[in-house]
Amino acid sequence: MTIYHLSTECYPVAKVGGLADVVGALPKYQNKIKGINAKVVMPWYNKSFVYDHEFNTVFDGFIHQGENVLQVQILKEKTDVLGFELFMVKIPGLLDRDNPYGYQDESFQFLAFQYGILHWLSAMHIRPDILHCHDYHTGLIPFMVENCPEFKFLKGVKTIGTIHNGEYQGAMDWDMSKYIPDFDGYKWGLMDWNKTINPLASMIKCCHAFTTVSEGYLKELFISFRGLEGLVRDEFGKAYGIINGIDTEVWNPETDPMLDFNFNINNAVEKKKKNKEKLCKEYGLRPELPLFAFIGRFATEKGADLLPDSVWRSIKQSYGGLNIIILGSGNTYIENKLKEYDYTYTNFALDIGYKEYLSHKIYASADFLLMPSRVEPCGLNQMYSMRYGTIPIVRYTGGLRDTVHDISTGGTGLNFTHAGVDDIIHSMNRAMKIYHEKNTMEDLIHANMQFDFSWEKSAQKYVTLYNNLFTSKVSI
Ligand code: ADP
Repeated sequence: MTIYHLSTECYPVAKVGGLADVVGALPKYQNKIKGINAKVVMPWYNKSFVYDHEFNTVFDGFIHQGENVLQVQILKEKTDVLGFELFMVKIPGLLDRDNPYGYQDESFQFLAFQYGILHWLSAMHIRPDILHCHDYHTGLIPFMVENCPEFKFLKGVKTIGTIHNGEYQGAMDWDMSKYIPDFDGYKWGLMDWNKTINPLASMIKCCHAFTTVSEGYLKELFISFRGLEGLVRDEFGKAYGIINGIDTEVWNPETDPMLDFNFNINNAVEKKKKNKEKLCKEYGLRPELPLFAFIGRFATEKGADLLPDSVWRSIKQSYGGLNIIILGSGNTYIENKLKEYDYTYTNFALDIGYKEYLSHKIYASADFLLMPSRVEPCGLNQMYSMRYGTIPIVRYTGGLRDTVHDISTGGTGLNFTHAGVDDIIHSMNRAMKIYHEKNTMEDLIHANMQFDFSWEKSAQKYVTLYNNLFTSKVSI
């Protein structure tokens, strides 16, 4: 069975968040299953990966998008170094940029990406068994495959959509419809939601099955989905929650080249301490105190707006009895407020930016990882932290609720209910108490490291889902 994963991100080529981690790992693990040939198609980016690896041009053609004629090239990485075939779609002016997101004309960018993929597959008579679309950037593919005469060669190919983040839907004005390949006009309703073209809504309507990245998140979408609650309820019959895994080859504290001191479950306590001492020294923190960390986008979704007050209150209330380190970027108000505290408090360290190596060091060094998310479809940070023996403190939502259980119920982390500073401070106080009970702390480090979040089980679930589409079974 041939599966094409279509995505704007893929680790290590281009990463903004969890989507990249999933698309960089899932196909690799699917390819370990007999009879599966999973590949990835993504936009071409001006990133070091493309210069450090050799590519073949496997297709060179043109698409007519509205009044524009665009050159489309498909480049294939020569050696399948990532454990799957990697194809990159290059369109001068649109798909040859530094980063995946943040451009004014992103609707054009993603329409051209989707059009380019289908044009290439049709022109070359490549008919995959499954087109697996990830998030709204590829959300119009299920519609186009069925309803654009230009792609009639692909009609009937099974399409799956995975919602990694339902907060972003890519809605655009109907004026943009002239940039979509010619389609059967009377089918316009399959792209429409609330008088706009909504790629995520269209994906849900038109795909053969769709998944969310945890079961908990799927249930939450019924009540909170930025206006698509009714749609997801109507289409529930083809919805599945499949929890993400983590790439345990990349995220292995024993071999991770980004760590100063590698460790395993037998020497974790001692080596984590050494990692912590090194990190604290670099950031002027005090290694004898508990170290709390946050890694992520400064967005309200992540509860990042609660961080400045939490930093201020926790340091004041503990009389400087703890350290906090934050790595991330995003909302400028949050960035500025945190910078102010960075100057004020010696117990607080801030690193603004996206730094893969530093995230690994922090997962390995911290005692506790904070995730006060308002919305967390799956969340990978808590799984990485657990694998690296760091105790997660999470708001009880989405995938966090599926993966982190409170110590009061026999779990290995701390849960809180409200996305508010009071709940965060209360949880930090609980954590401080644990930190000073040496045996409990060590038991928790070991227990967290023993969790199995590897991709095998979930990769198999996706494959079962694909198979069932051909036999019309519904359960996975
Ligand atoms: P998101 O909603 O951002 O995709 P996930 O929890 O699914 O959240 O995935 C976040 C991924 O991005 C993790 O691998 C995390 O370590 C990484 N990450 C987030 N922010 C940063 C940063 N500033 N520097 C390095 N890695 C980061």
